[in-house]
Amino acid sequence: MANSKFEYVRAFERPDPLLPNTFIVIRLDGRSFHSFSARHAFTKPNDIRALHLMNAAAAAVVRDLPDIAIAYGVSDEFSFVLRRETTLFERREAKLVTTVCSSFTSWYVFLWPQFFPETPLVPPLPSFDGRAVCYPALGNVRDYLSWRQADCHINNLYNTTFWALVQQGGMTTQEAEEELKGTFAKDKNEILFSRFKINYNNEPEFFKKGSVIFRDYTDVLPSAAAPDSSSPAAAAATAEAQETATTAVPREKSKTQIEKEKKRAKKAQVVVEHVDIIQDAFWEKRPWILG
Ligand code: ATP
Ligand code: ATP
Ligand code: MG
Ligand code: MG
Ligand code: MG
Ligand code: MG
Repeated sequence: MANSKFEYVRAFERPDPLLPNTFIVIRLDGRSFHSFSARHAFTKPNDIRALHLMNAAAAAVVRDLPDIAIAYGVSDEFSFVLRRETTLFERREAKLVTTVCSSFTSWYVFLWPQFFPETPLVPPLPSFDGRAVCYPALGNVRDYLSWRQADCHINNLYNTTFWALVQQGGMTTQEAEEELKGTFAKDKNEILFSRFKINYNNEPEFFKKGSVIFRDYTDVLPSAAAPDSSSPAAAAATAEAQETATTAVPREKSKTQIEKEKKRAKKAQVVVEHVDIIQDAFWEKRPWILG
């Protein structure tokens, strides 16, 4: 089979490795979910079954790929952040994006009957597009996730008000759209409160914050995280840490360090929370996630 006269075509393939030592973010988004959600009778504005299904599919992907440090999802989209030092698929862009995308889609379809037992999945079947973006600094990843969560809040406030006008206010969708044109957040809060007695602050965190999926290490013994300080490995690690602190560019992690973190990641429990990731509190409590 090797060295056939056809093999030269392989040289037309382009290498596509993503920049080393950067956080890789892969974002998926459902194709035409506006009509997909209508076809499968999603509750508006937030179908809780569909959101749980998205989270279950994403959690399965996080479990399958220990190099995913954190994932954030809202509506029909999910972002997966890979550890900065990942060498998964030699960081080849197409391999990473298509693998995450197709395994997410497979889980979504596989798990569908659990979340929609009374709604058969019918064509056009769900599909997701995907893209990868590299972020060089921790601050960039934090800003990326903040951008998605801020978007979640803006869209949810709009959708909550829009559907209150339609479902409780008896407006057509066009009338509701017209009503909300040019309004600010405070106007929408006011419409919700004065016309529908809805205090937006009391809406579920699930809808306001979206979903954050990560590995929780609280149940892992501290000794698994920090080596015994009397061991030679610990002494080496300390020396390395001190050296890192004095250099402007952080040194890459050692192979043993990366292996240790991988083992730990495989053992840890994958959890889903609906919490603020814009402020520092979440990150200060869990420095390991993007560390
Ligand atoms: P595109 O293919 O360009 O992404 P789209 O129709 O998927 O088009 P999006 O901007 O991705 O457009 O918006 C997704 C739409 O899916 C939302 O506007 C909403 O109507 C619907 N949707 C997604 N998840 C839910 C949910 N859990 N409950 C209700 N509706 C949802
Ligand atoms: P990678 O993730 O790198 O693609 P791989 O294990 O999928 O690794 P491939 O080079 O893609 O490796 O080869 C696919 C393998 O799948 C084949 O070597 C063969 O063992 C198996 N396979 C695929 N289709 C069939 C089939 N119809 N019947 C039997 N075996 C199959
Ligand atoms: Mg889109
Ligand atoms: Mg979409
Ligand atoms: Mg979307
Ligand atoms: Mg293969």
